[in-house]
Amino acid sequence: MAGEALPHLPPQTHDGQLWDSVKKTAFVLGTGLLTFAAFRNTLTWHLQMFWGASGDFWQAHWGKLHNYFDGNELALFGLGSAIIPSLSFWTYNAVLIFIDLTGKPNFFTRYRIQLGKNDPVDPAKLRHAAITVLCNQVFISFPMVLLMYPFMKWRGNPCGTELPTFHWVLLELTVFVLVEEILFYYSHRLFHHPIIYKHVHKKHHEWTAPVGVVSLYAHPLEHIVSLSNMLPSMVGPMLMGSHVATIMLWFCLALVVTTITHCGYHLPFLPSPEFHDFHHLKFNQCYGVLGVLDRLHGTDLVFKQTKAYDRHTLLLGLTPLHQSIPETTIKSD
Ligand SMILES: [Zn+2]
Ligand SMILES: [Zn+2]
Repeated sequence: MAGEALPHLPPQTHDGQLWDSVKKTAFVLGTGLLTFAAFRNTLTWHLQMFWGASGDFWQAHWGKLHNYFDGNELALFGLGSAIIPSLSFWTYNAVLIFIDLTGKPNFFTRYRIQLGKNDPVDPAKLRHAAITVLCNQVFISFPMVLLMYPFMKWRGNPCGTELPTFHWVLLELTVFVLVEEILFYYSHRLFHHPIIYKHVHKKHHEWTAPVGVVSLYAHPLEHIVSLSNMLPSMVGPMLMGSHVATIMLWFCLALVVTTITHCGYHLPFLPSPEFHDFHHLKFNQCYGVLGVLDRLHGTDLVFKQTKAYDRHTLLLGLTPLHQSIPETTIKSD
């Protein structure tokens, strides 16, 4: 539960604490420097070359779409920031719902993180979650996106005929990720305060072993403020005065990634869902998205003592991680 005490951790000396603080600071600074370096390394150069080759392609299609909507920018904005991201969310989740209900194909289910859970999922519970998510999207997300439009118009030209450059999109995405980490981490921790938790965030935590749609299964208040739901992902584009094409890309990415982190399967070549899955399992660990602020505030100390932490990595083979890193007792080191 929210107020559950952490298991006893080994006592640290003052030197140990100091060294730990230095390591945490170095980690945070290192993350910042790496982000900066990402703009200069060869990977981005190659991507830029690819973008250069395909940039005209996207620009031409954007031009056609702009003409098709006859300059109706509100419709373009709604399409890019609400309809297409929602469709990508439901396309991915339709596949996951099929897998969760049927337990097939085994190729996917053998990557289940919490063994024996949702095998198969309770159909009534899943239906209730899916309907709640749909209501959250229709009655909260869509109106919020419409309210965002006049602000974006005031801030810049969100539906301009010219698409932003590749490097600018990359810079904006970095800002969005950092803004989301900060807003999500602190709002999420606030929602775990015992006074608020039982009225609001408890709903999201009904699923101790989450599935894909649970990513947006939340109390309406929480859907507005926290989770990767709305504000943490909207504030970045509002700060930067982004183009709707960038907003579309960001919302699609954010929705697909939050689905991956809730889906309950640690699949090969996809981001690791172990961190947030552990949050659903234990409630008082791993509040953030990237994990940087959990490192800084020490809210990942229990997680780091588990096998889930060892498995929290990009799976580059086909052997499920619960086989290559089997569950034993708590790590001794
Ligand atoms: Zn969650
Ligand atoms: Zn939570």
